[in-house]
Amino acid sequence: MHRYLCLLCGHTVSVLPLLRLTYRCLAVARLQAHFDGQAKVSCGLDPPPGTTEAGCLQRAWNRFLTRADRLKDAFGQMLPAEIHSPEQLWKELRRAVGSTEEMLRFLAQNCKCSLLGDYACLRPAP
Ligand SMILES: [Zn+2]
Repeated sequence: MHRYLCLLCGHTVSVLPLLRLTYRCLAVARLQAHFDGQAKVSCGLDPPPGTTEAGCLQRAWNRFLTRADRLKDAFGQMLPAEIHSPEQLWKELRRAVGSTEEMLRFLAQNCKCSLLGDYACLRPAP
């Protein structure tokens, strides 16, 4: 992973490789396939996850369930006014935004946050 040091203020900036998630040991494609399965957009992961990955995916989904209001605010008018469940929210995100990679890029650029958390590392240094 590339890491840069600002010689003026001493802050470091790490550049997350494409297709990785902040603080999660999960590939974006696997997370997307799992979330699609949870929202019944697809029938889930192929190949199926092992025990460790299954645990990570379940924790990620549980976290997503707590993020509905934050994400509705972030994507605003890209989403319909009436969203009644996290599963529906995921379907609408996939329809309106596209891939999980595009969601992550939009959130980082426009809202300085991520799908599963508002991390200090995505905000500009003070
Ligand atoms: Zn600096």
